[in-house]
Amino acid sequence: MSKDMKEAGWNLDNSYGRLPKPFYSTINFNPVRSPELVILNASLAKPLGLDAETLKGEDAVAVFAGNAAPEGSLPLAQAYAGHQFGHFTMLGDGRALLIGEQMTPEGDRFDIQLKGSGRTPYSRGGDGRATLGPMLREYIISEAMHALGIPTTRSLAVVTTGELVIRETELPGAILTRVAASHIRVGTFQYAAQLGTVEDLRALADYTIERHYPTINDAPNRYLSLLQEVIKRQAKLITQWQMVGFIHGVMNTDNMTISGETIDYGPCAFMDIYDPETVFSSIDRQGRYAYGNQPYIGGWNLARFAEALLPLLHDDQEEAVKLAQKEISGFSELYKSNWLAGMRAKLGLFNEEIEDEDLIESLLGIMKEYRADFTNTFRALTFGKLEDTGMFGKKEFDQWYQLWQARLKKQEESKDAAHELMLTANPAVIPRNHRVEEALEAAVEKGDYSVMEKLLNVLSRPYEHSADQTDYCKLPAPTTLPYRTFCGT
Ligand code: AMP
Ligand code: MG
Repeated sequence: MSKDMKEAGWNLDNSYGRLPKPFYSTINFNPVRSPELVILNASLAKPLGLDAETLKGEDAVAVFAGNAAPEGSLPLAQAYAGHQFGHFTMLGDGRALLIGEQMTPEGDRFDIQLKGSGRTPYSRGGDGRATLGPMLREYIISEAMHALGIPTTRSLAVVTTGELVIRETELPGAILTRVAASHIRVGTFQYAAQLGTVEDLRALADYTIERHYPTINDAPNRYLSLLQEVIKRQAKLITQWQMVGFIHGVMNTDNMTISGETIDYGPCAFMDIYDPETVFSSIDRQGRYAYGNQPYIGGWNLARFAEALLPLLHDDQEEAVKLAQKEISGFSELYKSNWLAGMRAKLGLFNEEIEDEDLIESLLGIMKEYRADFTNTFRALTFGKLEDTGMFGKKEFDQWYQLWQARLKKQEESKDAAHELMLTANPAVIPRNHRVEEALEAAVEKGDYSVMEKLLNVLSRPYEHSADQTDYCKLPAPTTLPYRTFCGT
């Protein structure tokens, strides 16, 4: 082991590798020709206990490329299943591997995963590789989500591989180093329920409780508590997505984590103009994963989680079904109360009044009718710049505005306090599609990473409402083509 490898600060454990055998396959590396670091997240390296300067060296880059393992690494690909667009399939890490779990100086545990690292036993027909544009896109959007305060996997580094990957054309290959609380998914439980024995399922559930929900360890029915806790986290997460107009795009059960982090930035994108039917993904022809459907799909996915847990919930399966149904039917109400709380904050409301739901819905209705920009409308309301809403002077909006003002007076908090609350609930900048595309084009086509660095900088402080953000708040030029995103590219 070289000096640099030691100084990088890797402190890996492999608890996942201590799960029963069916849950993973150990992997031999598929080395790449000439890896080069194109971006490193220095501010993330530090809390992980990694030394950013050392991570730029050749040895560390070899780790990010899957060419060399740091001490303590047990490279493995995880097995999982999933409902993809409603259809159950056996899956697994087909183009990713877990090099280990970094134990941080704070005592936290984070998966370090290489995405695009080559074929595994779960690759099916795929090449196991990833291309530069989509890996940089995941880097930008996941970091933007983190800055928005939304639980998410993070991005530590992207390396190019020096190899071409064949898609519709030949594209530069790349590997993303992804950092996650874990990669345990609803689909991991589905896999256990489908393939493994009840002992395997129990081992996974116990492992998950220990890793993510230690407080329920001694609960009377700890597996029911696990279901309840995951429902709570997902209700919260999806509410947070809705609050900023984030559309995940491929909410298959294999892309829903048990930790409650957002994962898998494939075809995701942020909505500009408010419309619940917004879909960006080219393969989502039915709009299954449209903005307005996300909460329902969340509930549907959680029902699949509950089904997988049935053997653990009660010895009597009829009783188990009753217990699961009760929890699942509570999801929509829980989501709704989270959503109302989130929307109240966006409108500067501290207390609860019965009319709030109507007030919120009628604003959204007017926004939809006038094709108002989601982010900029709330920002304009935050600053009282009504002319920026695009709805100013329209009768319905002006009436709504009077109702809102009257509602604000029904609370004890001052107008200033309402403004402060709105500042924390309404970001100035989101990763707008045209800005993300512009950054990717400069990086991928010209090797110019300055556009991306600047974008990342602005996105790292989304609630600042500062002058240098103005350009990033603008809408794209009207185009005839709708924005489209693609999966697995
Ligand atoms: P995703 O759409 O990224 O959630 O991936 C769905 C499934 O397809 C997962 O099991 C991936 O590992 C697998 N997959 C995606 N792209 C590739 C690829 N290029 N090679 C092998 N497997 C892949
Ligand atoms: Mg996935």
